[in-house]
Amino acid sequence: MNKRKILVTSALPYANGSIHLGHLVEYIQTDIWVRFQKMRGHEVHYVCADDTHGTPIMLRAEKEGITPEALIARVHDEHYNDFTGFHIHFDNYYSTHSDETQEYSETIYHRLNAAGLIRKQSIEQFYDPQKDMFLPDRFVKGECPKCEAQDQYGDSCEVCGAAYAPTDLKNPYSAVSGATPIKKSSEHYFFSLSDKRCVDFLRSWTRTGKHLQPEAANKMREWLGNDEENKLSDWDISRDAPYFGFEIPDAPGKYFYVWLDAPVGYMGSFKHLCVRDNLDFDAFWRKETDTELYHFIGKDILYFHALFWPAMLEYAGFRTPTQIFAHGFLTVNGEKMSKSRGTFITADSYLKQGLNPEWLRYYYAAKLNGTMEDIDLNLEDFVVRVNSDLIGKFVNIASRCAGFITKRFDGKLVDKPGYSAMQKLVDERFANWHPSSIENAFDARDFSLAVRQIMKFADEANEMIHEMAPWEIAKDTERNAELQRICSLGIQLFYLLAHYLKPILPETIRQVEKFLNCNTFTWPQLDENEPISQLLLPPGHTINTYQHLMTRIDSKQIDALVAANTQSFSMKQAETPKKITESNNQSPIAPIVETITIDDFSKIDLRVAKIINAEHVEGADKLLKLTLDIGNEQRAVFAGIKSAYNPKQLIGRLTVMVANLAPRKMKFGLSEGIVLAAGNGGQELFILAPDTGAMPGMRIK
Ligand SMILES: [Zn+2]
Repeated sequence: MNKRKILVTSALPYANGSIHLGHLVEYIQTDIWVRFQKMRGHEVHYVCADDTHGTPIMLRAEKEGITPEALIARVHDEHYNDFTGFHIHFDNYYSTHSDETQEYSETIYHRLNAAGLIRKQSIEQFYDPQKDMFLPDRFVKGECPKCEAQDQYGDSCEVCGAAYAPTDLKNPYSAVSGATPIKKSSEHYFFSLSDKRCVDFLRSWTRTGKHLQPEAANKMREWLGNDEENKLSDWDISRDAPYFGFEIPDAPGKYFYVWLDAPVGYMGSFKHLCVRDNLDFDAFWRKETDTELYHFIGKDILYFHALFWPAMLEYAGFRTPTQIFAHGFLTVNGEKMSKSRGTFITADSYLKQGLNPEWLRYYYAAKLNGTMEDIDLNLEDFVVRVNSDLIGKFVNIASRCAGFITKRFDGKLVDKPGYSAMQKLVDERFANWHPSSIENAFDARDFSLAVRQIMKFADEANEMIHEMAPWEIAKDTERNAELQRICSLGIQLFYLLAHYLKPILPETIRQVEKFLNCNTFTWPQLDENEPISQLLLPPGHTINTYQHLMTRIDSKQIDALVAANTQSFSMKQAETPKKITESNNQSPIAPIVETITIDDFSKIDLRVAKIINAEHVEGADKLLKLTLDIGNEQRAVFAGIKSAYNPKQLIGRLTVMVANLAPRKMKFGLSEGIVLAAGNGGQELFILAPDTGAMPGMRIK
C-alpha cells in the first residue's frame, strides 16, 4: 500500500464560549475521517487549537476581572474536556496564543511585505472616547438606517436584515461603555488581495485541482467575478491597541487582526507537535511537497480559508491546502438552535445528562454526506434511529450468538472442518457485496452512504441468523456442531461489521476488540475477487464472555436534556429559587447561574401587576388562580403559592410579573405569565412587591 502523509485540521473554536452540538458536527466529521485514514495505515496528524485573540476576549477577561491569559487557559481546558468527552482525538490541541503561531505569523507577514503585498492606509473608524479604543463593528450599536429598529449592531440589522457600515447607524453608541463614539482616523495595514498576482493565482487555484467542493467553487466564482473584473478588496489585517493579540513587528501599538493569526494557528499547533514527536514540519509545509493538507471548516468561514489563506501561503512561500472540506450548519428539529426551545444544547450538558456520545457520533455520521448542506438533528428520529440501528441491528447480533459460544463451547468459535462450511455460507450470501463501497464512501466523507451500506450488511446478517434460528437448534443437544457453526457465523459477521463502525464508534469497538479477544482492528483489505470470508477470524478462535455493549436511548433522557438547556426565568411550582437564611441549614444559597448580557435581560418584560382577584382552584393542591391588572390588560396566572397565602390576603396587592412569557396550557386553564417569588416552597414563599407609588403596568428595568 502507498502510505500517504496527511495533515488534517478542524476550524479553531473561539475562546469565549462553550462547545455546543452545532460545533460538534465538524469535529465529529473530522474525527471519523481521521480515524478511518489511520485505520487504513496512513500517517495522519490531526491538529487544532483554541482561537484566542481579539477584542471580545479582551473585554470578557476585563469584565471577569482576570487576565486574557487566564481566561483562555480556562476555556482551553473546557473545550478540550468537551472534545475528549465525545471521543474526538486530536494529536495536538493547542492555542493560537503561542510562540509558534507568533513566529509563523511574523514570517508570513515579513514575506508578504517583501513581495510588495502589504500596504498602509489611514481609515476612519468609530472610537470610544470613554474607553479610549477603536470599536469593532459588533461593538457599535444604534438605530438601523433602513428600518430604524433600535439597538442594532454596527454591521447588520437583525430586524430587517440590512447590511451597512457602523458609521451609517443613527444615534450610535458604544456597546462597551454606552458613550457616543467619535470618528477618528488611524493607519491600518492591508494585505493586497486585489493585486493582480493574487487575483490570477486565486482564479487558477479555485478552478483547478479539486481544492474545493463544487458548491464552494461556485461561491468563489461569484466572489472573484469574471476574468475582466476584479471584485476582490484588500484585507485589513491590523487593529489598534488596546487589543489582545500579536503586535506587528516594527509597528508599535498595531496588532495582527485575529483572523490573520487564526489559520496560522494550524501551523503553530503542528509545529508544537513536530517538536514533541520529532516530525518534519517542512515536509508538510514546503512548496512542491507530496504530503497532503486538509482543512475541515463550516461554510461560514469559506471566505477566509479559500481566498485569504491560500493567497497568504502562496506568496509567503508555503504550500497551499490540498482540499478544503466545508460542511453546513446544524438545525435541531428543523429549526435554528434556540435557547428558549432548549435546543441550544452544549456538549457539556449532553455529557452531564449521561447521554452516550457515540449515539450522537452515529447520528451525525448517518446524516453527513460530504456536501455543504445543513444537517438536521431531529430528536425523535435520533432516538428511533440509534435504538433501531445500533441496538436492534448491530449489538443484537453479538448478544444473540455469544451466550451459546461461551456456555456450550467454552468461548471457542468453530474450528476446521466445520469452519469451511461456515465460510461457504458467508461467501454465498454476500457474493454481491463489495466492501470497497464502504471504504470509498468514508474516503469521500459520504458517511451517510457508508452507514447505509453497513446497515444493509447488518440487516442481511440478522436475516441469516433469524433463518437458522440457533435458539431452536440449542434445544437439541444432538445438534451441537450445527449450533456452534451458526453462532460462530453470527460472531464472525459481527466482527466484520465492527471494523466498519470503528471510525464512528471508537469506544464501543474498543470493547468489541476485548470481547472478541482481538488485536486493534485495522481497515479490512480485500483484493478484487477475493471472497469476504478471507476477512474472518481464524478457525477455532476463542472469544471472551459477552458484556453489555450499549444501552438504548430512553426518550425521557432527551426530554431531560432539552429541559436542562431551556433558558427559563420562570418560577416553576416545584423549583422556586432557594431562599437565603442563616437559621436553615437545609436551604443553602444556590449558586449564581450563568452570566447573561444586558440584551438577554432586556428581553424579559417585567411589569408591576395589581392582583385584582385571587381564588382557589378546584382539584389543585398547590395553585392559586390570580387575575392581574397590568394597565392595559388583565391576565390570568396560575401560581404555586397556595401553601403560603390565603387568596383573600392577596387581593388588592401589587406584585411583579413576567408579561412576555409564552402562555402555558395547564390542566386548569391557560396561564398567561408568572409572578415572581422567593423561597423554598411550602410556607416559605414570598411574592415580590414594588415600593409605594408604583402603578400597574409600569415596566421594571
Ligand atoms: Zn433594520
